[in-house]
Amino acid sequence: MLIEVKATLRLGDTLVPLIFMSDRTHLSNFAGDKNEWPVYMRIGNLSAKICQMPSTHTVVMVALLPIPIKNRNIPQVWLDEQPQTNREVLNEELWQLLQPLTCKQNPNAKSGYYNVLCADGNFRRCKLVLAVWIADCPEYSDLHHLERHVCFWCKCPKNELGDYAPSEKLHPWRDHNIYRKLSDAKTKAADAELSSRRVHPGFNVFRHIPCIVSDRPKPDLLHTMQIGMLDHLQKWIFHFMKTHKRLDKYNAIWLSVPAYHDLTPKNKSFLEVSQWNGKKMK
Ligand SMILES: [Zn+2]
Repeated sequence: MLIEVKATLRLGDTLVPLIFMSDRTHLSNFAGDKNEWPVYMRIGNLSAKICQMPSTHTVVMVALLPIPIKNRNIPQVWLDEQPQTNREVLNEELWQLLQPLTCKQNPNAKSGYYNVLCADGNFRRCKLVLAVWIADCPEYSDLHHLERHVCFWCKCPKNELGDYAPSEKLHPWRDHNIYRKLSDAKTKAADAELSSRRVHPGFNVFRHIPCIVSDRPKPDLLHTMQIGMLDHLQKWIFHFMKTHKRLDKYNAIWLSVPAYHDLTPKNKSFLEVSQWNGKKMK
């Protein structure tokens, strides 16, 4: 992406890398399930000194993405159609948000420049680019119309996710340009082809922004490192507790944790749990 931008910048132009952040947040269980899905944005060319001061408001909320309501009492036929409608609604909002960065708005190298009043009082010719979108793995799938539990970058089959792949056996990268062409075709054959690649059909705004989406930095500590890190930490900490005879105390505390939110009450001590499902892991 940066190579492409470099070629179009003139001497004196300013590149403004836009950094987006989004995360679906669960707010409450008390008065119906309340969720929020904010999108925050900041620009990349700010000094770290300013960025770290909350009073400077360097990060602004630019959108609240729609959260579909839970449809429990509607016919199955409508329920089956709902995910597609939800994706269309989400994309319409993302389109409104990201339109200034799309190829449609900037058809050639000379477009997409803005005269911006900078902090030093001078106007500069600025080029905005979508540089980073920080989100977790399930969110990337939703934003980019991929099915859940797939690799965002490559076509790795589900049963090989998480396995070590030597460099000569890496799976081919996902090509979002092909997905765009197939979605635009709007034929049954194209939809079937998308489905075989575990991609949802339909318009997706990220495929109309001039950059390679899968090349964007993707720090995903929450969903990819958590299990391995926890495993390592647990081994270390249990060894420590055994050595210092604290394990009984730990088990007593573990069993006394009451049911709350998504946590189920415990009936086994930590080490007696032989199989960890998603909820227990949480
Ligand atoms: Zn992969």
